[in-house]
Amino acid sequence: MTMTTELYMLAPLVALLIGLAVGKAWERYKLRDGRWIDRRRLRETPHYMLGLNFLVDNQVDQAIDELTQATSTDTDALEIQMILGNLYREKGQVGRAINVHQALLQRPDLRTLEHAYVLLCLGLDFRHGGFVDRALEAFQEVLQLDPKNRYALVNLQKLHEDQHQWTEALHVREQIAKIDAGRRPDDQQILGFLRNQIGTTQASQGNAAAAARTFAEAIDVDARTVPAYLNLGDVRARQGQLAAAVDAWEKLVEAVPDHAYLAFERLERAYQAMGAPKRFIDLCTRLIDRSPQDWRTRLALSRHLSGAGDHQAAFDLLLDALTHHPHGLSIHQEVWAVLAALGFDPALVSRYVALAREAVFYLDPHVCRRCRYRTTELLWQCPQCHEWNTFVEERIAPAKDPEPVSSW
Ligand SMILES: [Zn+2]
Repeated sequence: MTMTTELYMLAPLVALLIGLAVGKAWERYKLRDGRWIDRRRLRETPHYMLGLNFLVDNQVDQAIDELTQATSTDTDALEIQMILGNLYREKGQVGRAINVHQALLQRPDLRTLEHAYVLLCLGLDFRHGGFVDRALEAFQEVLQLDPKNRYALVNLQKLHEDQHQWTEALHVREQIAKIDAGRRPDDQQILGFLRNQIGTTQASQGNAAAAARTFAEAIDVDARTVPAYLNLGDVRARQGQLAAAVDAWEKLVEAVPDHAYLAFERLERAYQAMGAPKRFIDLCTRLIDRSPQDWRTRLALSRHLSGAGDHQAAFDLLLDALTHHPHGLSIHQEVWAVLAALGFDPALVSRYVALAREAVFYLDPHVCRRCRYRTTELLWQCPQCHEWNTFVEERIAPAKDPEPVSSW
């Protein structure tokens, strides 16, 4: 099961929790047609519990079967209908999901909160089916009923993002951040990335000054907004402000050292243009001293030294890099190039071969389809998740476009 499908399956679970919360409130309040709706009766049928268990186990079809049978005992059970609709949606039966949720909206005695949650489900149906305008409308209606509904806001943000309406998405995210009140660290990160997108649009429209300001704001909002540093430097470089560009890229190296390598090519070229190529060597040396396991900086420095004709120093750096990252194909490729430049000196070749032999490789790796456990041999039972016959030979293929993920 891929990560995407797992995320996919979270939605009905969350819906279930919401449903239960709504149900709880409901239990206390509802006196309908002169009789109390007895929620305990629902729990007396095995179908309800079975359905929930299938749901937790991601067995959608069985969950639908059981929950449908549970509703035949108590057709008024709003939350079960709501979940059923959501399950249809997850199975791709959007029309059916819309029918279920619209039917629920017709109930005359919905409380405000219930009304809001059914509308939310409907909005998700519309979004899933690609009916952008109707989804937008549904989420906005939810917010009129329940202005702090985080799920509606998150989906509204995603809808705007899908249409590259970055400014609108940013406004929505700011509302979410206000609701979260600093409890979620990813708010700042998302605000930073959305600002970076706005800056990218401004830059592509030729509005360099505004773009530079927006990129700087993105960095202020969250210092870990890596692309904003790169873009800020690029904008300044295009405006002929090379020193200011270098400043932005060097700030990235300081603020997010594990992504420093993204600025290497730019910095190397800029230092060269400024007549100070030594600054690149100094920068790399400083980074390697600071984090000895940093193989990317060693690889970059090795390429730089190779370019300057110092193949021997380049080779030593590459072997250091390999001890920290033996699987790195880019390092091996660079080793081959350097060995070729050094005429395949037998002493150096033996050092390389010895190092590669000692490294922890998975020869012909096999991977568990369930939990991603890796092993060299083919196993019939996974030592990690204990599932049977889940190993397949690992093949590396180019990534495909991911499926859309419903965001909750
Ligand atoms: Zn496993």
